[in-house]
Formats: sequence, C-alpha cells, structure tokens
Amino acid sequence: MKYVSTRGQAPTRSFSDILLAGLAEDGGLYMPESWPQFSKDEWRAMRSLSYPELAARIIAPFAEDSLTHETLSKLCHDAYARFDHAAIVPLTQMEDGLFVQELFHGPTLAFKDMAMQLLGRLFDHVLNERDERVTIVGATSGDTGSAAIEACRGRERLTVAILHPEGRTSEVQRRQMTTVLDPNIHNLAVQGTFDDCQDLVKAMFADLPFRTDMHLSAVNSINWARIAAQIPYYVYSALQLGAPDREVSFAVPTGNFGNVLAAWVARQMGLPVKHLCVGSNRNDILTRFLHSNDMSTRKVVPSLSPSMDIQVSSNFERLLFEVMGRDAQACANLMTGFRTTGKMDVPSKAWEAISTLFSGKELDDAATTAEIRSLYEKNRYLADPHTIIGIAAGRAFREPGVPMVAMATAHPAKFPDAMREATGITPALPPSLADLFEREERYRVVSNDLTVVEDAIRASVLANSR
Ligand SMILES: *Cc1c(COP(=O)(O)O)cnc(C)c1O
Repeated sequence: MKYVSTRGQAPTRSFSDILLAGLAEDGGLYMPESWPQFSKDEWRAMRSLSYPELAARIIAPFAEDSLTHETLSKLCHDAYARFDHAAIVPLTQMEDGLFVQELFHGPTLAFKDMAMQLLGRLFDHVLNERDERVTIVGATSGDTGSAAIEACRGRERLTVAILHPEGRTSEVQRRQMTTVLDPNIHNLAVQGTFDDCQDLVKAMFADLPFRTDMHLSAVNSINWARIAAQIPYYVYSALQLGAPDREVSFAVPTGNFGNVLAAWVARQMGLPVKHLCVGSNRNDILTRFLHSNDMSTRKVVPSLSPSMDIQVSSNFERLLFEVMGRDAQACANLMTGFRTTGKMDVPSKAWEAISTLFSGKELDDAATTAEIRSLYEKNRYLADPHTIIGIAAGRAFREPGVPMVAMATAHPAKFPDAMREATGITPALPPSLADLFEREERYRVVSNDLTVVEDAIRASVLANSR
C-alpha cells in the first residue's frame, strides 16, 4: 500500500515512511491510495479470531510493503498482552439495541492505548531495521501523553519528551506520566497553558536545524498508523453483533475525529456500518457542522471531558478529501482558508454526503453529570464523562433492528471528581495503578520559552544516546 497526502504536494510513501513522518511536508495528512476490501466470507471467517489476530488481519493490507504478516502478528500479540481484560475490548449490553464497548483496559486506562501500544512497537521495529533513532515530542492535556509514555518507555531508539501545562492536568493524569522513571522518558511541565505547549511543539517542528538534529517525530492522532490500529475494535463488535449479515451503527465521543474516522474506514473496507454518531461537549464545532454546515472555530471552553476540548478536529481533513473525490487542490484550498479565517465553506454536496452518514449530539457539563447519574441509577454502570457523551449520542440516533455500539473511551477512575459529583461514588483505580499516589515523580519545570525547552530536550537526547 502506498500513501498520498490530502494536499497533493508530497511524494507518495510506504507505510513505514509515513509511520515515522506523521504529517506530510505539504501540511497534509497521509491517506492510503485505495481501500482494502474484504468479502462477506472473509469477514465471517474473522469471527473465530482472537483480538490480536483480528488486529493483524485488518492492519495487514495497510502495512504489507513494510512488515511481514508474521512480524505484524507478533507485534499485535505483544501490544495487547498487557490489557487487563481477557476480551481486550469487551462488549456489554446497556438496554434494548444499545451496547457499550470498553476500550479502556490498557495500561493508562484510556482508548489511546489501543493504538499507542502498537505504535510504540512499530516504531521500535522500523528503527531497528533502519538502525536509526528518533525523538518523539508531543504536547498533552492528559491522555495522549501518558499513553505515548507508557508505549515508549524503555525503548532505546526512542527519546520521548512530553510537554504538559504545569498544574493544569488532573493529578491522576500527571502522575501517570511523571512516575515513569525510564531514562528515555522526559516530562516537561511548562509554565503555561495546553495551547502554549502545542505552540512550542509546532515551533520545534518549524525550527528545521533542531528538527533535523534531533530527528523529531510525532505520535499524535494524525499519524495514519494510529487510525489503522483503531479499525479492528469496530470490526470485532460488528462481527459479534451479526455483521457482515446485519448492519451495525456506532456512537463515538469525539475530539480530533481520529476514533470515529477509524469506524468510517471500516465501512470503506466493506463492513456494513449504517450510521456514525459523534458526541461532543460544549466545544461543539463538529456537531454544529453536522446540523447546519457551520464549520467555524470558537474559543475552547474547559469541560468535564477534557480530551474532547478542541476547536479543530484535525482528522476531519481525511474525510473531506475522500468525499470531495480526492481532489487534493480543493482540499488544500479549504484547509488553508480555514486556517486563516477560522471558517470553512464546505461545498453543499460534500456536506450532504457527510451529514447523511454522520449525526452529531452535544452535551454540556450539566447534561453530562445528569446522564452519568441516570445511567448509574438504572444500570449500576459507571461511565466516565467522555463515554457518557457517546452513549447519549447513540441513544439519540438509535434505529429499530440496527444495534448501536457506543465506545467507552476512558475508565471512570481517571475522573474521580466528576464521578463523585454525579453518583457519590469514587471509582477505585485498578490494581496495576493502585499505588500511583505513592510512586516517585520526576519532571522538570520549564518556562514557556522555545530556547529553554529546546535546550532541555537536546540535553535529554544527548544523555539517552550515551
Ligand atoms: C482522545 C480521547 C477522545 C477523543 O478521541 P478523538 O480520536 O480525538 O476524537 C475521547 N475520549 C477520551 C477519553 C480520549 O482520551
């Protein structure tokens, strides 16, 4: 499989090239040249596979030029070996026609582990083959940083520097990052906001000498390998509920549009997906777009579901590219216009195609709390503030005869305050993290200054290569 940029000005590349590159140099996102297809018989045959085997089977056509099936299969087995549920992605029925699929049984208790655990191993494998090293830098408001750190810890060819805003992540989230003491992991607490952290990362990538010297790389959600690694769990639940002989719909709490995009890719590959429901908090750019073709950015407001506090859903560009017939020039024009004006005029034909398949529902904090409480009272089920938004979206758009699967993206113990407020219960951390509050922390506080941050990272890389 070869990969093309959504903006048409970057060379086509192999899977392992785009794994390391992340973003294309024309600012676009990489997309596979074509969609692998499975026949009904092939889908049916997948019902008997274990989750790691299923993952290897689904990802294989995307990676065939770079990895043997044997290697991929081994990496998938390793990636999901540390999950603390025998089914990896268990499916539970909530009510008539509504199911919840839990994606939070990985080491950091959020769905980011589903892709990141595989990504860390893919990086390691490819860098070993090429005898190269890279420095992964990233900004986080919580979940992405800890998932990346957990997936990359102890891997010699990777130096990882994660920037978080000092004092602005939850204590659980901070400790999940700062208690990882492996020498290749470096936590920088920036005296600033999450946006400052993100700007610093962008500035480092724009500083070409620094970028080249340090071999900078990224594992954020625009990396195609992350999308690919998120497709298998949609296939897994669909097959359990009767696909390919029955249609299934999905509901997904959404921020950067990476998770729900993987469900859409499964549909492109021939899985019978009827409808995709996107849930958002007050930061509702996507739901406004789906309702009324209003794609305009507003100021980000903090919410109970911080991993969905965004104003631009980066992965939306991939969907746009496809529904505009892969016209890279048109896509590039829309994206640059959006960047300068904060508003995107999506052609009405493209909007109609998207809004026929996708629906959006928004929940503010009060509704989020009320829904958590009500589900707990009815089912004794604790859904975290992200998950509950997906469940509410799924319930709103359910159709008779079509199972609706809502994605549970975080463990409730990650958000103890919100859970206590809604239900009076403080969910316990699982045994693997029970001593989190006693563990030693290590991080460095840095001012919001590019030179200071670059110097800190340079020193870390030097120390790690000795
Ligand atoms: C990252 C995240 C999301 C949003 O996923 P996207 O792929 O960015 O749409 C939702 N819930 C949780 C818990 C997350 O960590």
